[in-house]
Amino acid sequence: MPVELIVSGTLIHGDDFEVSDGYVVVRDGRIHEVGFERVASDVSGLVCPAFVNAHTHVGDSVAKDLPYMPLDDLVRPPDGLKHRILRAALPEEIAEGIRSTLADMAATGTGHCADFRENGVQGVRLLRELAGGRATILGRATEADTVEDVLEYADGLGLSGANDIPRDALFSMAQKATDRRKIVGIHAGELNRSDVDTALELKPGFLVHMTHATGHDLRRAGDLGIPVAVCPRSNVATGVGVPPLKEMIAAGLLLGLGTDNVMINAPDMLAEMEWVSKAFLHDDVRTLRMATLDGARLLGMGDRKGSIRAGKDADLIVLDKSSNNLRCSKNLLSSLVRRARPDDISHFISGGRIWQNSSRKS
Ligand SMILES: [Zn+2]
Repeated sequence: MPVELIVSGTLIHGDDFEVSDGYVVVRDGRIHEVGFERVASDVSGLVCPAFVNAHTHVGDSVAKDLPYMPLDDLVRPPDGLKHRILRAALPEEIAEGIRSTLADMAATGTGHCADFRENGVQGVRLLRELAGGRATILGRATEADTVEDVLEYADGLGLSGANDIPRDALFSMAQKATDRRKIVGIHAGELNRSDVDTALELKPGFLVHMTHATGHDLRRAGDLGIPVAVCPRSNVATGVGVPPLKEMIAAGLLLGLGTDNVMINAPDMLAEMEWVSKAFLHDDVRTLRMATLDGARLLGMGDRKGSIRAGKDADLIVLDKSSNNLRCSKNLLSSLVRRARPDDISHFISGGRIWQNSSRKS
C-alpha cells in the first residue's frame, strides 16, 4: 500500500454516520484527514467504515451446514456435534477453514471480529497468527490449558454459558480475566433464560444473544452497563426464537451485531444488516451503528474503530455506487444496509493494506 492513499466519493462519516461528498486521506494505516472539497483520488465510490462483527466462532468453519437440530445437540460442550467434529478434524483442516473465513470476511467488508475461540492456548495462537490485529480473541481453558495459560495469549475469555461451568469456577475465571484487564464475553439467554441471572451477576464485559431475556433482565443489563452482541440470523437458524431488539434498544443497551458460528452462517455483515433492518428495526442508521461503531464500543475499541474519523484505524470499504444494484438509490446509507451485496464492494482497506475485489469487472 502506498504510504498515503486518498479515497473519495460519498462518505458515511463521523460517529453520527452523516452522508456527505468528500475524501479520506489514509496514512500509515490510519485515517489522517477527512475533508469535503473535491480532490483527485486513488479510489472513489461510496466510502463506509468496515464492519465490526461482534460475535463469531471461526474455528467451526470446518463443519458448515450440518442438518438442522436442537441447539444443545449441535453446540453444547463437550459432546455437541460441533465439538465432536472439531475433535476429529486435523489441525491443518481447522487452520484452512479459518483462513478461508478470514478471507471471506475481508471480501464482505468486515475489518474486525470478536471470536470465541476453542482449543485453549493452541486455538488462540492459531487465530492470532492468521488474523493478526483483525480479531479480538476470547479463549477457553481446556483439560490441558488453565485459564491463566489462555489469558497469557488471548484478549479475554469467551465462555459458553453459565449452565455449562460450575458457579465457583465461572466466577473465578472471570475474576482472573478482570484482574488482567481482559474481556469476558458469555452466551446467555439463547435457548431459554435459565442462565441469564448468573450471567448478569458475573458482570461480564458483554453478553451474547439474550434472546429469551425479559424486560426486567434487559433493564438490569442496561443499569449495569453490560452490552449485548446479538445474532438474529443464527437464532432463527437454530430455532431458538428472535431476540427482542426493540426492547433492548428501549432499555438503553449498547448492541453489537454478530453472525455467530461459521458453521451456521456465512460471516457476512451485509446479510445480517439487511435482516436486522427489514425484519426488526426499520432503522438503517441504528442497524449500521450496531454493525460498526457499537460493535467496536462493545469491545472497548470505540476510539479506534467503527467510524470514519481522523485518528482512527483506516478500516474502510468502498462500494461501487453505479453498480446495477446500487444505482438510482435515493439514500445510499439505506441502500448499504438494506441491499448492498459483497459484489458491490470494489475495495477493502484494513491494517495498512488495500484489496481490490478481483471478482468485479472493471
Ligand atoms: Zn456463539
